[in-house]
Amino acid sequence: METIQVKTPSRSAVVDITSKVAAKLKEIGATDGACLIYTPHTTAALTINEGADPDVMDDVLTALEKLVPWDNAYKHVEGNSAAHIKSIMVGGSVQVIVESGRIVLGTWEKIFLCEFDGPRTRKVFLKFQGERP
Ligand code: ZN
Repeated sequence: METIQVKTPSRSAVVDITSKVAAKLKEIGATDGACLIYTPHTTAALTINEGADPDVMDDVLTALEKLVPWDNAYKHVEGNSAAHIKSIMVGGSVQVIVESGRIVLGTWEKIFLCEFDGPRTRKVFLKFQGERP
């Protein structure tokens, strides 16, 4: 298993981790297979979506904030229930295909770490299964 560290800039943010994942796969010599990407945090998430226009993920964060407002008379005393709920909604893992050493994504797609209770440093675990030279 490999680990990458991701610094997040604010309470609610998305960070494009595609190049970090690609660099780690190159480092371990991954050629053809699949890579499970998982973040072991209860207030963060992972997703794959449009990275060409940053307004798309801004709109996603705005929509999530409307659906799950930070202040909403939650019971959890830590005060970050909204972040836990958003983490569950988006999900903690994604999987990508790796072909000839490259991550297979759509033209506009990027892999994002979604932060819902930052700023923090988050861990992302990678497990490549497949061929190495
Ligand atoms: Zn909490």
